Amino acid sequence: MTHPAQPTASHFINGTYVEDTEGTPIPVIYAATGEQIATVYAATPSIVEQAIVTAKEAQKEWAKMTGTERGRILRRAADIIRERNHELSVLETYDTGKPLQETLVADATSGADALEYFGGLAASLTGEHIPMGEDWVYTVREALGLCVGIGAWNYPTQIACWKGAPALACGNSMVFKPSETTPLCALKVAEILHEAGLPAGLYNVIQGLGEVGASLVTDPRVDKVSLTGSVPTGKKVYAAAAAGMKHVTMELGGKSPLVIFDDADLENAVSGAINANFYSSGQVCSNGTRVFVQKGIKEKFLARLAERTATAKLGDPMDESVNFGPMVTENQMNIVLGYIEKGKEEGARLVCGGKRADMEGYFVEPTIFADVTDEMTIAREEIFGPVLSVLEFETEEEVVARANDTEFGLSAGVFTQDISRAHRVIGNLEAGSCFINSYNDAPVEAPFGGVKASGVGRENSKEAIKHFSQVKSVYVRMGDCEAAF
Ligand code: NDP
Repeated sequence: MTHPAQPTASHFINGTYVEDTEGTPIPVIYAATGEQIATVYAATPSIVEQAIVTAKEAQKEWAKMTGTERGRILRRAADIIRERNHELSVLETYDTGKPLQETLVADATSGADALEYFGGLAASLTGEHIPMGEDWVYTVREALGLCVGIGAWNYPTQIACWKGAPALACGNSMVFKPSETTPLCALKVAEILHEAGLPAGLYNVIQGLGEVGASLVTDPRVDKVSLTGSVPTGKKVYAAAAAGMKHVTMELGGKSPLVIFDDADLENAVSGAINANFYSSGQVCSNGTRVFVQKGIKEKFLARLAERTATAKLGDPMDESVNFGPMVTENQMNIVLGYIEKGKEEGARLVCGGKRADMEGYFVEPTIFADVTDEMTIAREEIFGPVLSVLEFETEEEVVARANDTEFGLSAGVFTQDISRAHRVIGNLEAGSCFINSYNDAPVEAPFGGVKASGVGRENSKEAIKHFSQVKSVYVRMGDCEAAF
């Protein structure tokens, strides 16, 4: 019998499901059991061509519609997503292995927020009037054209919406390629957008590995590329896009610092560290995996963190009482286990976890290392798993310098009750998305993105509009036009 997660077909192009079994088969594995639940096929050159041609064509009429008309469709899609939240959350859990307890509140709902927010904004995307004496200049905020979205595997629904919603609101079309690891959810987003009234061709989803993504990025008909992925992939995609002078948004990885001062509220700081490391089993780009704890509070903090982490409930992700799921793939699990071994070898003190959980599926125990030093591999490289490193510090000046000593700059957090210090420290940390006495909140109203190697551009908020549109300026002369000869 066909598994309920099996999509109607691999691709969604020009308002309908399309199949081409000539493409390389991509098995979809449920991370909680290792069972194959679906198969999709990578896009062949003919599928890529159909996706680009129809998206390019549909965009022209879409851009001519009023913002109010475009926004209404996006807001209708948000409503449909909310009505179907349970079904979509189950699919997200099949796609990623993340517990239903999380997906019910963080994935389809976050996608709906983006569609609602940008749907609401679409009608207010206006230009400026600039007086120049009796002459004047006006500006027009125009669509870029055809945008390509390429997603990572940790938030397949959210990423498809975070890219699609602002792109469509601004009058663009999108061809979206999900990660080969999680190909299911973006198809549902496309289906729902069209059910909400989106004209055919404006949001096409095609499957494939990196090479399909690369063929989209290098296509001269594509105007913009928005990637969520790792830094090495980001460097390749950015370079390829630059060759065609395309606009880019790069949402890449991190090794973010979370700084906890002696005066922090202990329970809140422990909650912050848990949210910064163990949500989605640690597979979150903005995670605060370097937890710098001031000397005076360190042992108390570690004891309470270990005590609370021991209550994490691993198990069947579809059981709503389970709050800790498996790694997305066997490969990711092995990468994480490799880092844990490195931590042990390099002399970090294992406080809890530290191995594969003794159960079916690709589970790694929530793991805490103490006595981690700045040079250790686990403090320098992005692990993308549930591995929290505690580093001790003494002074504010010292911790800011150590926190900034990394190529990454996605996020940063601080816990303290000293309001001046909180703002001063955040002001000095080199990161794009920051938190004070909190961690990992990502509302659509707030800009999201990194500095340094963690990215270029911002998603969400009004900032995203700047990255999915361009400004045309028009000088209007009211009198005679003079010339030198
Ligand atoms: P990858 O960088 O491996 O892949 C990201 C996407 O790019 C995938 O869809 C991938 O396809 C595609 N891709 C790979 N090579 C190319 C290429 N040459 N040209 C075009 N597309 C390509 O990341 P993962 O999917 O493994 O995701 C994990 C990483 O993503 C982590 O490092 C994490 O930090 C980062 N991330 C960043 C976020 C942010 O917002 N800053 C959010 C979430 C994750 P395929 O996988 O099918 O081969």
